[in-house]
Amino acid sequence: MQKGVIAIIGTTGVGKSDLGIQLAKTLQGEIINGDSMQVYKGLDIITNKIPLNEQEGIPHHLMDFLDPHQEYQVTDFTKDALRIIKEIHNRQRIPIIVGGTNYYIQSLLWKDSLIEGDSFNTNDKKSDVDEEILDAKPEVVYKRLQEVDPVMASKWHCNDTRRVRRSLQIYMETGKPHSEWIKEQNDPKEKASSLRFSRTCIFWLYSDLEVLDHRLNSRIDRMIKSGLFEEINYLRNSVKTGKIQTPLGNKEDFTRGIWQAIGYKEFEQYLTAVEGSNDAPYLNTLKTQGIESMKVATHRYARTQIRWIRNKLLYKCQQESLNNRNEQHSGNIRIYLLDATSLETWNQEVRDKAIAVAKEFLENGIGPNPTSINSRAKDLLKSKKDMNDLEILNNWTKYHCNICTIFNDNIPVIINGNYEWNQHLKSRKHKSKLKLKKQFDENYNGQFPPWFNKKKII
Ligand SMILES: [Zn+2]
Repeated sequence: MQKGVIAIIGTTGVGKSDLGIQLAKTLQGEIINGDSMQVYKGLDIITNKIPLNEQEGIPHHLMDFLDPHQEYQVTDFTKDALRIIKEIHNRQRIPIIVGGTNYYIQSLLWKDSLIEGDSFNTNDKKSDVDEEILDAKPEVVYKRLQEVDPVMASKWHCNDTRRVRRSLQIYMETGKPHSEWIKEQNDPKEKASSLRFSRTCIFWLYSDLEVLDHRLNSRIDRMIKSGLFEEINYLRNSVKTGKIQTPLGNKEDFTRGIWQAIGYKEFEQYLTAVEGSNDAPYLNTLKTQGIESMKVATHRYARTQIRWIRNKLLYKCQQESLNNRNEQHSGNIRIYLLDATSLETWNQEVRDKAIAVAKEFLENGIGPNPTSINSRAKDLLKSKKDMNDLEILNNWTKYHCNICTIFNDNIPVIINGNYEWNQHLKSRKHKSKLKLKKQFDENYNGQFPPWFNKKKII
């Protein structure tokens, strides 16, 4: 087999680890963890590490090896993973990257990936708080976008809430302005393929969100039964007694290391209260609140992961297939959607399809058409949005309507975008002013006649 790699991506709790084992067993593969929390030692339950007795003897690399406070950047991950992939290839085996941290995956699969910037916020959960601004009033969201990405803001009308929000969201999730992304993706330098591996097969495990939310909730309930609080308490005590040092001393820094894991800080209040109170109903309320916040944060994280795949990863894959057509490619990449919504059909829909596709792709370099193996792929594997954005960034202009400006006390009337401009030229508002202006030019030397009341027409 060629020196290919397999990557399994998708939301938390969708079954990536299970598919990883199933593929590794059939294809003589080894697993590389691509989850930024599972690299840490401890919190095995919270971070969903696959237990040793379920690993079926398959080697799992880059899992469970860092101390809780150690910083581990995306560049560290890329370096380590590349070394391990080389070793796996030398053993004539297939590296299978299983990961929930999408920017890990992306910078591993592509050289000079766009996300390897200093500005990139490596903590993809920190934006939870900031994200509240996305629910703010349209003016507030627009103002924020003007601050962080004036180029993009100038392209959107301030009332185009959907687009304004999305541009801001992209900035918040990546630390890089949306306009920069679009420009770089259109840069001929970037267009030339920069895939690291000659054959890259990505499986996107997808579940309907409604179904997934239920599954995530019951997983959290199971975590609690199997010792989530014991696990947290152990780590809390280690910090308190100084057994584990953190940058803040004997206190957790929830923005660093393993303490970012969803499900840790959510119980801070409850566990602190337990230490000083016997008030059972009160404690129970705090506990319930903690569980609720953990569930909400997990649902939100799943959505962030999907947005990333749809807005970024799919776009990159699409670029590669364009490059292929232009014969600028250095490798083949395919992304396959697998429907994991129903666990009853897992073997047919997920396991068997993945095995068949992976074999064919790694052997021949050409796999089946992604839309032929899954009826939902056609809709979900689309990343049209960014293409449109590119056109907009390059072609959208601001138009200055001279006619309407005259009737507006010379305060410039600006129209955003070609479509809007054409609509404006056809509008009654504009046409009536145009007609009046013509009349005034002909009969009053371009001046407003004394009888004319501007207020009436505006
Ligand atoms: Zn006009």
